[in-house]
Amino acid sequence: MKTHILGLPRIGPNRELKFALESFWKGELDEAGLQQVGAQLRRHNWQRQIDAGLDFITVGDFAWYDHVLQTLARLGGLPARFANEGSGLQQLFACARGTKNQFAMEMTKWFDTNYHYLVPEYAPDSDFSDCADDLLAEIREAQQLGRAVKPVLVGPLTLLYLGKEKQGLENRLSLLPRLLTAYSAVLQRLQAAGVEWVQIDEPVLTLELAPEWRAAFTGAYAQLAAHAPKILLVTYFDAVEDIAACAQWPVAGWHIDLVRAPSQLAAWLTALPQDHVLSCGVVDGRNVWRCDADRALEKLRPAQAALGERLWIASSCSLLHAPVDLAAEKKLNLELRNWLAFGQQKIEEVALLKQALLDPASVADRLQQARDSHAQRQASGLRTNAIVQQRLRNVRKEDAARASSYAVRIEKQRVELALPLFPTTTIGSFPQTGAIRAARAAYKRGQLGHLDYLQTMRAEIKLAIEKQEAYGLDLLVHGEAERNDMVEYFGELLWGYAFTENGWVQSYGSRCVKPPIIYGDVYRPEAMTVSWTQYAQSLTAKPVKGMLTGPITMLQWAFVRDDQPRADTALQIALAIRDEVCDLEAAGIRVIQIDEPAIREGLPLKRSDWTHYLQWAVRAFQISAAGVSDATQIHTHMCYAEFNDILDSIAAMDADVITIETSRSDMELLRGFQQFEYPNDIGPGVYDIHSPRVPQVREMERLLEKAAQVIPAERLWVNPDCGLKTRGWEEVDAGLVNMVAAAKNLRQRYAE
Ligand code: GLN
Ligand code: ZN
Repeated sequence: MKTHILGLPRIGPNRELKFALESFWKGELDEAGLQQVGAQLRRHNWQRQIDAGLDFITVGDFAWYDHVLQTLARLGGLPARFANEGSGLQQLFACARGTKNQFAMEMTKWFDTNYHYLVPEYAPDSDFSDCADDLLAEIREAQQLGRAVKPVLVGPLTLLYLGKEKQGLENRLSLLPRLLTAYSAVLQRLQAAGVEWVQIDEPVLTLELAPEWRAAFTGAYAQLAAHAPKILLVTYFDAVEDIAACAQWPVAGWHIDLVRAPSQLAAWLTALPQDHVLSCGVVDGRNVWRCDADRALEKLRPAQAALGERLWIASSCSLLHAPVDLAAEKKLNLELRNWLAFGQQKIEEVALLKQALLDPASVADRLQQARDSHAQRQASGLRTNAIVQQRLRNVRKEDAARASSYAVRIEKQRVELALPLFPTTTIGSFPQTGAIRAARAAYKRGQLGHLDYLQTMRAEIKLAIEKQEAYGLDLLVHGEAERNDMVEYFGELLWGYAFTENGWVQSYGSRCVKPPIIYGDVYRPEAMTVSWTQYAQSLTAKPVKGMLTGPITMLQWAFVRDDQPRADTALQIALAIRDEVCDLEAAGIRVIQIDEPAIREGLPLKRSDWTHYLQWAVRAFQISAAGVSDATQIHTHMCYAEFNDILDSIAAMDADVITIETSRSDMELLRGFQQFEYPNDIGPGVYDIHSPRVPQVREMERLLEKAAQVIPAERLWVNPDCGLKTRGWEEVDAGLVNMVAAAKNLRQRYAE
């Protein structure tokens, strides 16, 4: 029986990699200095695996920027357009960050996580070769430590699948033979270096792959396995499709995720050939909760009975998605802290489970501690809130629907708001200047008093209102100066949320995020935004739009409790937002926006699971929104361009107005809305806020004209793609003046 993990966070316990990378990019650290930091981080991670008693140390999970990019580089597959952008690290960073000659490679989310990888680009002349010297060097370094070394590579089919076809390439699968030649060369070198097992990650096997992709696997692995170390084929995030067929592939073992997909175990135990290893991922690599040892052992015991020595114990996926070490948390509530396990603790859990199977007496104390912590969590008052529980029992079916249909509501809203045709608005945030951030930070540290802080923020709100009136916008916002982040701001005001000091997780490259932890029933003790919004409304005769973050986004960008279905947690958040919406309405706010930029990210990996998710997600949004009267207008905002495949759910959310990102896609997205006959008001973004460029009146007019061809003019709004918080005031002043001018030109044309 063996133990291992699939990979560790590479950022370091104090985000050493982030700081080293950023000073290297600024020219303050030379390459030797950067290499030294990398080597230290790797050694540190290996030593932790050795100290915990794991049977393998995992090598090759370290990446300078991203593990997909790193694998691509090791196979000589960086896009050819970067051939003249230096070599080695310089070229790698050119791909990741762009140069003055070449825009950066595209970035997108790694499956359903919040980690972003760089999207490989494949062209007809893409070629591959063994460029894995750095991996071999790392292996030799690790071998010095005297523990079996298990290198990891992203597998060839996942690498191809996650990439995009460029320059007229028709089918990237046609590159597989070339790619396999390069993989094979690397694997042979690993074998020659004395590596017994190699971990090859093929998470795409948990997707519903098209038949030609699935078929490609058998031949590919027959070719690779012929001259390679023993291959452990690794899957995670969901169950493998068609297990019986997979089990026959010519590899030496499999890894499966028994946290996300525990029910697949039985099929594996039946199908797995007599000499294959099965690595069971029972320690959750994606969340922060301490492993329930008894439940994990329950899963492992039948596997042990069937497999004996051929059972391996592992984390469900790479620990890249978990924070590094709980030891760094000094301020967390001690009761809650005892329920948590970060990367370091998860390594120890994997080792403990093996001991618990082989020699329980030797670890009786630690097992008992794990059991006690679990029992204590079950019984804890931190987890439940009687008011919330009562509230949940009282939710009625009608709570998820507005009193009247959109057609009835919008008439009342038009009377109430008296807005012109093509009404103009923004998505919520205005520039977060250095002064605003400094004031918030000083307030948090206790250096700025309550009243001074209040006055500083009010001055910012006043500035934003005056500017919006001067631009001539129709529906104003308060500007979100008081918010550090759209999730953190609300999380800090709600009960049931906790924040760590150092729980960083890599988002992409040197960027890390610190997601909040939802540990208990979510309850809103008091209004969160009313006084700011009311103050803004007091300064103007025009309507001010209240601004909230929706329940699914609140869920998606946090570590969520694993002791109840996510749908239940979403419902609790929805009820808290609903109360805020109603309080805003009672305070005289006539328009309220509930942002849901993350609703699409929550989609399950398998399409067959989409319906269930969309049902509870849409219901949570509806519950958050539906407490208001017909005349109160609900907006929602989403900022991505691909949702034609979930338009029916977006329509079912039944927001009176939806604002979306469309300017870059040249309004293409709206075709989907037209075909679907999306019934409510739409504000397609006409101002690309991701660019410092100021959009011109003509451009925005043209986009609006295009939009008006597919959406009736009386249902069209005029707004930017997203919030303006990353822009400077100068650009915003110019951009919004132009946007209002574009709307006015259109109005005139339509009045004729
Ligand atoms: N209201 C938020 C803002 O304007 C929305 C941000 C987002 O969509 N990600 O910043
Ligand atoms: Zn947005």
